[in-house]
Amino acid sequence: MSANYDLIVLGGGPAGMASAIYSSRSRLNTLVLETKRKTGGQPGTYHDMENYPGVPETTASELMENFRTHAEKFGTEFERGEVKSLEVNGFEKVITTKKGEEYRAKSVVIATGAEPRKLGIKGEEEFKGKGVSYCATCDADLFTDLDIVVVGNGNSAVEESIYLSKFVNKITMIVIHDEGVMDAEKILQEKAMENDKIEFVWNSVLEEIKGEGLVEKAVVKNIKNGEKTELDCNGVFFFVGRVPSTDFLEGVVDLTEHGYVKTTKQMETNQPGVYAVGDVRDKVVRQVITAAGDGATAAVLAQGYIEEEEYWHNHVVNSDKPALVAFWSVTDQESMDLISQLEGMELEDKGYKFIKIDTYKNRLISDRYDVEEIPTLLKIESGEVASKLVKPEKEKIKELI
Ligand SMILES: Cc1cc2nc3c(=O)[nH]c(=O)nc-3n(C[C@H](O)[C@H](O)[C@H](O)COP(=O)(O)OP(=O)(O)OC[C@H]3O[C@@H](n4cnc5c(N)ncnc54)[C@H](O)[C@@H]3O)c2cc1C
Repeated sequence: MSANYDLIVLGGGPAGMASAIYSSRSRLNTLVLETKRKTGGQPGTYHDMENYPGVPETTASELMENFRTHAEKFGTEFERGEVKSLEVNGFEKVITTKKGEEYRAKSVVIATGAEPRKLGIKGEEEFKGKGVSYCATCDADLFTDLDIVVVGNGNSAVEESIYLSKFVNKITMIVIHDEGVMDAEKILQEKAMENDKIEFVWNSVLEEIKGEGLVEKAVVKNIKNGEKTELDCNGVFFFVGRVPSTDFLEGVVDLTEHGYVKTTKQMETNQPGVYAVGDVRDKVVRQVITAAGDGATAAVLAQGYIEEEEYWHNHVVNSDKPALVAFWSVTDQESMDLISQLEGMELEDKGYKFIKIDTYKNRLISDRYDVEEIPTLLKIESGEVASKLVKPEKEKIKELI
C-alpha cells in the first residue's frame, strides 16, 4: 500500500511546516512526515522565542503550535514516521519509513533539521536520561533545586543556562576559552555573568561523567595545566552545536563534507523536484525565521516544478503524436519569428503536436534538453528526442517536417 501526494515534506519543524503552509495554500495535496510524537522540531526543546518578527510575546512551543494550526487550516496532512529512504525516479519520488510505510510524491521538501551534537565523553551515553540531557525545556524541572553542569558557551548554551537557572540550585558552565571569552553574543554573556546561579570554569573541558546509576560527579580538566577536578553535580547538559539529520540521504542528494544538503539559492538540490530547507541545508544563519523563509521558497518552486512537469508529461512524453517543441523567449526576436513561422505551417494537420516552451519560465525542461541557444526546435517521438535543430533555417525545418 502506498499513499500519493503532490508534495511531501520530510520533517515537521518550522522549515517543514512553513513549506506546508505555502504548499497546501496553493492547493497542492501536502503531507508532512515527522518522526517525533509532537511536531515543532528544535523549538519544541527550548522555551524563549523573542526574535520571531511580528510575534513579540510568545514561547517557542506556542509559535510551533501556531505553525501547525496554520498548515492544517489549509489542508496539510500530518503523519508520524521516521523517513529511512528517499528514491528519486524522475517525476515520482518514493519515501519509505522505518516501519516500511511507503509514500509517493511529485515533489519532496527535505526539512529534517539537525540534532544535538554528542561529544562521546566517557559516561555521556551511559547516563543519557539519568542526568545527561540535551534539552532544557524537556528536563529542567527534573533538576529543581539541584546542581548541574553545562557544557558549551555559544548562544544556545548561554540562553539555555539562563532558562535552567529558574529551576536549579547552581549551574557550573565549563568553558574551553580564557576567562571572560565566550562564543555567545555579548548581550547574552552579560545576562549570564549577572546571574547569581551561574558560575564559570574557564580553560576547561569535561572529561568524564561518574555516578552509581545516576549522575553524581563531573570530571573537569584544565587544558592549560592538565589539572583534573571532580565537581559534585546531579546533571550534565550538553549544548555544543548540532549535526544535520541526513544519514538517509547519502548517495541520494549532494551533501557537504559535514553532511549538510547542498542547495541553490532557490533551495534546489541536485535532484529536480527535491528541495532542502532550514537547518539541514548548507547555509550561514540557522534561525526559525530563516527556516520559515526557506520553506516558503521551496514550496513556490515545487509548485512551478509540478506544473511544468505535468504539462510536459501530458502534452509531450505521453502524446500519441510526435511533438514539435519550440524553445523561445520574449526577449529574442529570432525565436518569436520562428514561432510565427511554425504557427503558419498547420502542424496539427500534418500529424504533429506543436508545443511552445518559454525558456525563462521553464528552466528545468530547457536544462534537461540542454537548450543553450534559442530558438531551438526539438522533435520528440514516444518521449525520446528524434531531432534537435539549433537556430534552424527555413529549409531545415521543412526537411524535419
Ligand atoms: C537551544 C536552542 C535555542 C534556539 N533559539 C532560537 C531562537 O531564540 N530564535 C530562533 O529563531 N532560532 C533559535 N534556534 C534555532 C532554531 O530552532 C532552528 O534554526 C530551527 O528550529 C530550524 O528549523 P528546521 O525546521 O530546519 O529544523 P528542526 O527544528 O531541527 O526540525 C526538524 C524536524 O525534522 C524531524 N526529523 C528529523 N529526521 C527525520 C526523519 N528521518 N524523518 C522524519 N522526521 C525527521 C525532527 O524530528 C524535527 O521535528 C535555537 C536552537 C536551539 C538548539
